[in-house]
Amino acid sequence: MHIPPMIRKSMSTRVPATHSQAMDQDQRLRWLRERDDVALEPLWAQADAVRRATVGDAVHLRGLIEVGNVCVRACTYCGISVHNHKVGRYRMTRDDILDCARRAVTLGFGTAVLQGGEDPGLSRELISDCIRAIKAETPLAVTLSLGERARGDLEAWHAAGADRYLLRFETSNRELFARIHPPPPGRRASVDRIQLLRDLAAMGYQAGSGVMVGIPGQTYTDLARDLEVFAELDLDMIGIGPWIPHPETPMVRDLAESAAPGEQARNDAMDTLKMVALARLAVPDANLPATTALATLDKDQGRELALTRGANVIMPNLTPPKYRALYELYPDKACVNETAEECDGCLRGRVARIGRVIGVGHGTARKNSRREVAGSRSRGVDCDDDANCDGCEPTEKSRRTMEQPWTAK
Ligand code: SF4
Repeated sequence: MHIPPMIRKSMSTRVPATHSQAMDQDQRLRWLRERDDVALEPLWAQADAVRRATVGDAVHLRGLIEVGNVCVRACTYCGISVHNHKVGRYRMTRDDILDCARRAVTLGFGTAVLQGGEDPGLSRELISDCIRAIKAETPLAVTLSLGERARGDLEAWHAAGADRYLLRFETSNRELFARIHPPPPGRRASVDRIQLLRDLAAMGYQAGSGVMVGIPGQTYTDLARDLEVFAELDLDMIGIGPWIPHPETPMVRDLAESAAPGEQARNDAMDTLKMVALARLAVPDANLPATTALATLDKDQGRELALTRGANVIMPNLTPPKYRALYELYPDKACVNETAEECDGCLRGRVARIGRVIGVGHGTARKNSRREVAGSRSRGVDCDDDANCDGCEPTEKSRRTMEQPWTAK
């Protein structure tokens, strides 16, 4: 089995997890400013040790369904924002979405992630209906990533059975966030996403967030503060990807906004991987994806490097091929031309080559296993949590989930 030397190095270094938990802002800043790969090896090793001690060797697969690329927002970095008049728009139907969810089950995934732009056409009723159907027909956990929605929508979707909500705050620097993420039409101020994440957790969602690395004007101090916010929110999921310039976006024309030399965070694989590793140390039991954006920057090793430096989740793409290329948040996106089966096979091979195993079940962050069980039962749904669940005695159905892979009904 050939394993590239950089990845083998991370896998072979053993550091006791307890050495790495507490890190103050000065230490984080020192790591963030470090550019020497050899000097960074203790950070990679610590992150990998903490990952192993807290979430184990399982890599959980979350099937990504890009339900639509219509968006009313004008985020200056995003290829499907309202600015881009060159991209063809689509919105998947209920049947399209359910077909993708069934495929997730066939491929053995534990979660379906419904992701899309901020689109009123993805109505409260349509999404509620999709969630109820997925929950009735499959054992999948449902994650939503549909932007800043009205409280009534979010509550209705949770009541319909949605387990998790992903909303990146992108940067904790409020002035920078306001610049890259203008308010919605008819509003004068941007939504406070950090408060919205607290609200989502209070509603009962497992809340996920994350940031973009290397935004023009973003400093290492900003990134260190982002890590502090991850820990303050005690997030269940943290997605970290580099800013990848899209030619049809205003941000590409805005590069003069960069911070001082040496302080500007870089939108490269190294700075992104440092944030992945530091996020693992900041919130040890969170689920951390090896993001597609990172894989786009480094198609050969991006995912493997993330998985050996703190990450424990991959999100294979289940979106039908006819829509994939239209969901172009950034150009040259990894895996855009592969079918769901090809994507799944490739990712499983990558996981096996670094000596890890594919997770079974929902892959819920341990701190939430108990809550997921309680939430499922209060909604009258049987629990399908995985073998890592320490929330309760397994039910007959969850025992079946642990013992055998699911097949489509
Ligand atoms: S980042 Fe999200 S909300 Fe902003 S334009 Fe893109 S899809 Fe819309």
